[in-house]
Amino acid sequence: MNSVAIKSLNTFRMNVFAKRIVVALTEEDLLKAWRQATILDNQPILILGGGSNVLFLENYMGTILLNRIRGITIKESKDAWYLYIHSGEIWNRLVNFSINQNMPGLENLAFIPGYVGTAPIQNIGAYGVEFCQFCEYVDILQLDNGKKYRLNKFECCFDYRESIFKHSYRNNYAIIAVNLRIDKIWKPIIHYNGLTHFNVNRVTPRQILNRIFLLRKRKIPNPLFQGNAGSFFKNPIVDAKTAKILKNKYKNIPIFSVKNNQFRLSAGWLIEKCQLKGYKMGNAEVYNKQALILVNNGKATGTELILLAKYIRDKVSEKFSIWLEPEVRFIASQGEIDPSKIL
Ligand SMILES: Cc1cc2nc3c(=O)[nH]c(=O)nc-3n(C[C@H](O)[C@H](O)[C@H](O)COP(=O)(O)OP(=O)(O)OC[C@H]3O[C@@H](n4cnc5c(N)ncnc54)[C@H](O)[C@@H]3O)c2cc1C
Repeated sequence: MNSVAIKSLNTFRMNVFAKRIVVALTEEDLLKAWRQATILDNQPILILGGGSNVLFLENYMGTILLNRIRGITIKESKDAWYLYIHSGEIWNRLVNFSINQNMPGLENLAFIPGYVGTAPIQNIGAYGVEFCQFCEYVDILQLDNGKKYRLNKFECCFDYRESIFKHSYRNNYAIIAVNLRIDKIWKPIIHYNGLTHFNVNRVTPRQILNRIFLLRKRKIPNPLFQGNAGSFFKNPIVDAKTAKILKNKYKNIPIFSVKNNQFRLSAGWLIEKCQLKGYKMGNAEVYNKQALILVNNGKATGTELILLAKYIRDKVSEKFSIWLEPEVRFIASQGEIDPSKIL
């Protein structure tokens, strides 16, 4: 029997249940909950922060472990501040805290939902800035033996919405803390659309943060009223040849140069050009102000969202020969499943 509702623990607001919810305030709590679920009860266990990057496809037949280990320690050198932050701190509170303490740098990453411990997993990013630009190291705890490891920023293998934590350290590990370095010489990042009107010599971190609040409010639905998990798909990365072909065919296509002769496309633009903005399938729909976001209109099931995602993927593939990869993680009754198995 599943008995605990987890609708309020996932931003897609999927109306599903789990067997148990445990809140961990310490590392010992994490280890205890892990032992109880896996060894004593022989059930799966899933660590969650804010549930803002997951889609529950059905009831979860195990324990949801809410990581709420808190605490921030600050050190300082001549050139930088170093913040050691436990994983159960809320990301946006950290951003505000650092700015209130006159340690600007994280403002472009404001208002991203979720917890600090999840930020390295997909190397969160927004408005031209990524988590990896600040990360010095990440501390992890192996849950089946209590051993701790420290991975420096290179070992984390950060990339666009990618890190080692999506692969090698996916099961049996909890991220327990991150260490960020914030340079004392603040350089405002204002090259992104919506920020370019600022004067680089006069703008303040708070002005950038306030502006980002407005920009996000315009384009991203509030999960409290319209369930969603932000971008459903990643922006595709293509080689120079593909980028050139697309540019010749579609003059207005947004293409951004990244690294090693690779180019990033806008998944939202590709979906919009397939006339799918606002498209509905059952109770799941493409958000009408930003085609990259899929929305639960209140009663959507996991199957409806997956059918919609498949439809979008096929349409984009037919028109542009580009294959979209999901950014959201899919959670089935026994745990996370590989998107290629259902999409
Ligand atoms: C409205 C909205 C806007 C968003 N905007 C952005 C954006 O601008 N940029 C961006 O990058 N993302 C964005 N996202 C996605 C999301 O906010 C981020 O991916 C965020 O880092 C997820 O944090 P979370 O704590 O909610 O993760 P969760 O959804 O709780 O967890 C995600 C995954 O991490 C695992 N996990 C969680 N905590 C731990 C831990 N301590 N140790 C090990 N594994 C763990 C979970 O098991 C799960 O597989 C947005 C989402 C929403 C809903």
